[in-house]
Amino acid sequence: MSAFRRTKIIFTLGPATESEAMLEKLILAGADIIRLNMAHAKHDWTRTVIRRIRAVSQRAGREVAIMMDIKGPEIRTGDLDVPIELKAGEIFDFTVKPGSGSSSEEVRSVDVNYKDLVSDIQVGDTVLVDNGLLRLEVLAKNEARIRCRVLIPGPLSSRRHINLPGVKVNLPSFTEKDRRDAMVGLEEGIDFLALSFVRMARDVEGLREFLNLHKSKVRIIAKIEDQSAITNLDEIVSACDGLMVARGDLGIECPFEELPVIQRRAVRACLAQGRPVIVATHMLESMIGQPVPTRAEITDVANAVYELADCVMLSGETTIGKYPLECVQMLDKISRRIEAEDGDGEREVAVFTGDRMKMLHSAVVLANEIPHSKILTFTRHGFMANGLAALRPVHSPVFAFTPFLELARQLRLLRAIEPFVMPFASDPDASIENAITILKQAGRVAAGDKLIVATDIVSQDRLVDSVQLRTVR
Ligand code: PEP
Repeated sequence: MSAFRRTKIIFTLGPATESEAMLEKLILAGADIIRLNMAHAKHDWTRTVIRRIRAVSQRAGREVAIMMDIKGPEIRTGDLDVPIELKAGEIFDFTVKPGSGSSSEEVRSVDVNYKDLVSDIQVGDTVLVDNGLLRLEVLAKNEARIRCRVLIPGPLSSRRHINLPGVKVNLPSFTEKDRRDAMVGLEEGIDFLALSFVRMARDVEGLREFLNLHKSKVRIIAKIEDQSAITNLDEIVSACDGLMVARGDLGIECPFEELPVIQRRAVRACLAQGRPVIVATHMLESMIGQPVPTRAEITDVANAVYELADCVMLSGETTIGKYPLECVQMLDKISRRIEAEDGDGEREVAVFTGDRMKMLHSAVVLANEIPHSKILTFTRHGFMANGLAALRPVHSPVFAFTPFLELARQLRLLRAIEPFVMPFASDPDASIENAITILKQAGRVAAGDKLIVATDIVSQDRLVDSVQLRTVR
């Protein structure tokens, strides 16, 4: 079992976890990032819990990061007076102009909030309702409605979520609601914004412009959830600060047998470009109601660790689940065990260009060659820490010191990085000594430990990048 966990843990906050007492337990159990799902959050609640997380983190002596997950575009059915029971084979209409439902008594209908539905969809396409519980096939369309046949029957109630697999949906990626939610996040000092249903790099760039306008350093997590995102994967990875493989919607939007293939491709695309990556949704789903996971869930978590993902994420397990603490402990235990395996999985990390990255590469090669060694780095903008994490050291933890609390929180996203906040001395050598003292006090290093230090040093009045091998005294 590894003494240090490299894979990071994200959990989603909800009724099961929002109390101070539970937050403290989860933070002390090793949660790294707390996700706020704005699909379900009111602004008052959001402000209250952000302040609570900050206060509890400070008290616990462990600053976690906060990720606001904004909902993005959503296609929904309209209101119904009473739920409709759709029957297999039934003909059913989705209407885009209110009141344009069929006048014929036989064909029932519901409105949809997406006016371009008719132009975007083709005869033969599939409409999925309520997270795929209902499936319909498009038979015909006119300017006001699409006519479908019910393939998988079931009840349809008001305001149900619609997925259109394979259809290029022409909706803004950053909606008015997202903008209002994000403003609350910026005012309260969140660390990450997760943008839902990113379909192309331009979606990320639009959010980046919004953040720049507000002089915000919040980092962007692009959630890939549909087939367009898979088509444009490399450009999205390049545009974002981190990727989330949002398997909930991906599993509806794509043929389900494609999901493991997409996950692996997405993780590899991130490794190749040195971007952090999160594997999300249904990791321990059965633990919503049970104290132990299924064997398949254990293997799913292990698979993400073997793939060298930066983070694994909990959703329903910690919003409404009965065992939120056990879920975080379970992710912690599985990750440590898998990381202790020799080489812990596939290691096809990128070969980076640029002198500084090559220098960091030499630090990681050195660390990999020296058993039980640890890496120490100093970072003002996150470059050194990002680079070292991207190079995926085989066994060494990376202790990343920064003078900035905001950056320290953002570094929690990165595999193998343990952030520390410390003011830097004017002499880099003094900073190294101060950092070692802090690491000794925290029990992270002991006399005799080998440390690979990647930092800049002063040489003849100039700062030069360096890699040093030191033994802790
Ligand atoms: C997902 O679909 O897996 C996901 C994380 O997004 P959301 O929970 O916002 O649907």
